[in-house]
Amino acid sequence: MLLEDMLNHQTKIPTEWHTSIRKVGQKFDSAAEVRLALQYYSIAKRFEYDFYHNEQRHIRVYCRFKHTHGCPWMLFASPLRNLSIMSIKNFESTHTCGQHGENAGNLRASRKFIASQIQAVLKVRSDLRAVDIKNDMLSNFSIKINYSKAYESMVHATNTGSRVVIDADDRRFRRLFISYNAYIEGFIARCRPLLFLDGTFIKDRYRGILLSATGENPYQPPHRLIVISDADKGIRATIEEFFPDAFHSRCVLHLVENFKKNMKDFGHKTNVATTLDELLQSAAYKFTISE
Ligand SMILES: [Zn+2]
Repeated sequence: MLLEDMLNHQTKIPTEWHTSIRKVGQKFDSAAEVRLALQYYSIAKRFEYDFYHNEQRHIRVYCRFKHTHGCPWMLFASPLRNLSIMSIKNFESTHTCGQHGENAGNLRASRKFIASQIQAVLKVRSDLRAVDIKNDMLSNFSIKINYSKAYESMVHATNTGSRVVIDADDRRFRRLFISYNAYIEGFIARCRPLLFLDGTFIKDRYRGILLSATGENPYQPPHRLIVISDADKGIRATIEEFFPDAFHSRCVLHLVENFKKNMKDFGHKTNVATTLDELLQSAAYKFTISE
């Protein structure tokens, strides 16, 4: 697919998608290749399918309207003799589901699939929004996806291996979790288990509370989980319950905030309180007692 075409919104479905599934005897390197070919084919031909068997050595797929409208479209693939190569053993290419299948929403287009389609575009167009991806998928491939799927696909396209979970009820946003792959890999490879917990009130039109858990710091044995938080009562109790061996330390910023508040309550003058705050903050960043 040409990048310019996609940017100009002129991309039509590539011809080879229509022929990714052809006939009985057609061979594929693996079951994953069969699944991918099915995805291209169903998007080109605009129908949806369900797996009856979806295993390494056994793939059997029917048109989604087999049971409700008796559509005969089906495909069966299994390995060639004792090899790992998969071959189509049975294929019925006719649909009789007609209008029922015609406007199928291509629910089979996975995040991974969408991510692979938008990867090149996102490299040069970092301003693209999830809603643009959603519209592009519809105009280019007649694939209907929702906003969350478009967003998740963007994260997958730009940060393969990332985890995104969007929790929504009745199309109403509830909560969001994002962990970029670079963080996951970095945390596993180089960090000692160090966990920052925090929460902040969101003041713009979305409101709510943004909870964050961040892992950081160079690796240094022994492995002992270190939690850093504002030591709120609830967090303290939870950590004692779930991570009894963890070392729970207090976040400097929160400590200084509390200190400031106490200084005021004790009736210290503002300039004195500010100097003491600064001394406390600077002491917290020293590595030795004499410093
Ligand atoms: Zn059908």
